[in-house]
Amino acid sequence: AAFSSLTDRLSNAFKHLKSKGKLSEADIDGTIREIRRALLDADVALEVVRSFTGRIRERALGTEVSEALNPAQQVVKIVYDELTGVLGQGVDRPLNFAKNPPTIIMLAGLQGAGKTTLAGKLGYWLKDAGHTPLLVAADLQRPNAVTQLQVVGERAGVPVYAPEKGVQSDGGDEVSAPGLTTGDPVKVARDSIALAKQKLYDTVIIDTAGRLGVDEVLMQQARDIRDAVQPDEILFVIDAMIGQDAVRTAKAFDEGVDFTGVVLSKLDGDARGGAALSVASVTGKPILFASTGEGLKDFEVFHPDRMASRILDMGDILTLIEQAQKQFDEEEARKAAQKMAEGEFGLDDFLEQLQQVRKLGSMKSLLGMIPGMAQHRQALEQFDEREIDRTEAIIRSMTPAERRNPKIIDGSRRARIAYGSGVTVSQVNALLQRFEQAAKMMKRMSNKAGMGGIPGFGG
Ligand code: GDP
Repeated sequence: AAFSSLTDRLSNAFKHLKSKGKLSEADIDGTIREIRRALLDADVALEVVRSFTGRIRERALGTEVSEALNPAQQVVKIVYDELTGVLGQGVDRPLNFAKNPPTIIMLAGLQGAGKTTLAGKLGYWLKDAGHTPLLVAADLQRPNAVTQLQVVGERAGVPVYAPEKGVQSDGGDEVSAPGLTTGDPVKVARDSIALAKQKLYDTVIIDTAGRLGVDEVLMQQARDIRDAVQPDEILFVIDAMIGQDAVRTAKAFDEGVDFTGVVLSKLDGDARGGAALSVASVTGKPILFASTGEGLKDFEVFHPDRMASRILDMGDILTLIEQAQKQFDEEEARKAAQKMAEGEFGLDDFLEQLQQVRKLGSMKSLLGMIPGMAQHRQALEQFDEREIDRTEAIIRSMTPAERRNPKIIDGSRRARIAYGSGVTVSQVNALLQRFEQAAKMMKRMSNKAGMGGIPGFGG
């Protein structure tokens, strides 16, 4: 899929940071170098790479020491923030609907970018949301473009307005183009708006012509259509596989038609993904949608933050990091670490830690947010949330003295505890055994690892 090699390369860059306790300038520069190479190999434009890595370096050098995040996590968070920013200031940009319908959406881009396909998807998506869209075939350049849009419209169940005799259909509604002038896309576009007003279509999606390369005739035509219908949105459709040409093309269309938003198409292919980063960055225009296949439903609303986390393969790392920052009680953690080091960490402390973690959300969603976890989906699916409920119940059935020193729990007490918490004796035994092992391990590791986290449980 798109970005997969970029993802691998970036996580490699971070991997080298993991064992470090504190980051030196040299550490940061090493990581930045790897990030730069990863981005360039993903076809991100050089100018974009430069400013992107420049900002990351500056912020990484200026980071304060945090107790909630280790240095590697902080760098990841900075990269994540910057990536989200590059992809659209971090905020979703919804489609801009006109106050007075119809909302006019014009599609622009090179030939083969995916405009016609997108028209169908967008129509289908809008219809599904309760709108009444109309597709307009204003691409009169390419021989089959009109027919192709009609096929797409039919599949989507959305009517198509096209400049051909008896052209219409479907979605149940007959749409004809009376008095059309074949070959004049501006007139087709203008007439379609009149028709939409008359027949109460609330959105009009105008498919325009593209050429294989940017040229002035094409651009002038797009401008003429734009000036004739005054679209609420001009969406620039760009093939994510276009690579280094992305910047030049995007700039040309930005100057040519001053588009309002970007749609990335063919994100399903093994595009290296650089186009996405470059286009948003160079034009400063938001990405609204992503097209991810040839089917009608292969279409997504674009979320900069989710795309950034997908690129970094980290589930929703930001959410996790921010929740951790909010919830993580540093004082508590220090005390717990202290106890671990002194071998005084009891089951009551364990229970407290469990609850700290649980404040963050369900274990399953928490595990899903951990970088690299995407590869372990199956294990994640099998993770049984009730296991933690059971663990909690067992600990709660113990006396305070027993929690502090589980060694005093004898056979009859184990049976009582099992009865009290609704589990079997062997489940109680298993928990105690795991805790004992974990306690030993913590004692051994505590000097090195500090607040090592939660002793093992589960499975
Ligand atoms: P247009 O010239 O801009 O109208 O581009 P088209 O809509 O005709 O698309 C060009 C080709 O790309 C067609 O073969 C489409 O089926 C294909 N295509 C469009 N969008 C996608 C997409 O998101 N993924 C994939 N895999 N193919 C796409």
